[in-house]
Amino acid sequence: LNRRLAEFGTTIFAEMSALALSTGSINLGQGFPDTDGPEEVREAAVRALRDGRGNQYPPGPGVPELRTAVAAHQLRRYGLSYDPDTEVLVTAGATEAIAASLLALLEPGDEVVALEPYYDSYAACIAMAGGRRVPVTLRPHEGAFRLDLDELRAAVTDRTRLLLINTPHNPTGTVLTRAELAAVAELAVERDLLVVTDEVYEHLVFDDAEHVPLATFPGMRERTVTIGSAGKTFSFTGWKVGWVTSTQELVTAVRTAKQYLTYVSAGPFQYAVAEALRLPDAYFDNFRADLRRKRDLLGDGLRAAGFEVYQPQGTYFITTDITPFGDKDAYAFCRALPERCGVVAIPNSVFYDDPNAGRSQVRFTFCKKDDVLAEATSRLQRLA
Ligand code: PMP
Ligand code: GLN
Repeated sequence: LNRRLAEFGTTIFAEMSALALSTGSINLGQGFPDTDGPEEVREAAVRALRDGRGNQYPPGPGVPELRTAVAAHQLRRYGLSYDPDTEVLVTAGATEAIAASLLALLEPGDEVVALEPYYDSYAACIAMAGGRRVPVTLRPHEGAFRLDLDELRAAVTDRTRLLLINTPHNPTGTVLTRAELAAVAELAVERDLLVVTDEVYEHLVFDDAEHVPLATFPGMRERTVTIGSAGKTFSFTGWKVGWVTSTQELVTAVRTAKQYLTYVSAGPFQYAVAEALRLPDAYFDNFRADLRRKRDLLGDGLRAAGFEVYQPQGTYFITTDITPFGDKDAYAFCRALPERCGVVAIPNSVFYDDPNAGRSQVRFTFCKKDDVLAEATSRLQRLA
């Protein structure tokens, strides 16, 4: 393994999912739903396969049907207008969109300011691109994690090339407010920064929170690469369909990198996701309502089991604090959890640069069936 990747071993998600399998535990670690997405979307994939649409290399930027549907979705939901021919790129999940964006846009030594705790692929992809990550840490404040805008401003230097934003935020569940996003946008414009914004949980916002794409703010469309995912939005994480929307210039750059990573993304699923993106608003509303209910189910169960819960306003994750159990190391806690009570979770400590940070934080996902969540929380009561 080369020096750039030396610090990155097996991802925590693979490690913890393997632990769930080998111990027969309930997996509330890795974020994947245990209920597949809509039947009609699965049928659309079968039809595409059977009719021979996409069984051979599809076009590099993605099939026109999907690019058109992505552009229509951005317009319908956010009033953002993108040309499907030049300003939309289909990727192998949001993961490839992140990798290709960073590989395409960074020069060696460029600094990337990113919100910490970070989704694990950010650090690895910044490293692969030869960049330097500069964390801005979201900190607990009144029961939720918040961004300190002064810290964000202070993190930007003359070497900063881009801001890597993620809202709704994995793992904390924080949804940046309109005012916070406006400040991020102002900073990007003032310091002439590019912005890569991972908005894969765009449809999973709860209560009075609202998802506002960064690209909608003044001066932002031309400097922002926005990333979405069918895995998250339609509960097909195994399909690995994601997308990027941006200007022609930035999309062309990202596409150049994508060409040499995967060349193209899997064909038949693209036709199915095109249909999914055209589902009526009721689909998105029901999806959100269902997950909000599950959030409360898991949140109540975790509180009853003795965890301190940071209330998430978005995503399908809950970050908890394990201090009440007297445990001081989230990683050790998560490794022991299957044996103690047959449940798997993710230690947030692995999402921080500082090895001593986040050591009391453990993340649970609630994208699981109600009875699975109920069984998991009843098992967690044994910890007390
Ligand atoms: N970004 C974030 C914040 C995520 O949580 C995930 C996990 N799925 C991804 C990107 C990757 O998405 P995909 O599965 O579409 O590659
Ligand atoms: N995004 C998912 C999570 O945060 C996992 C994706 C992965 O395994 N890379 O749990």
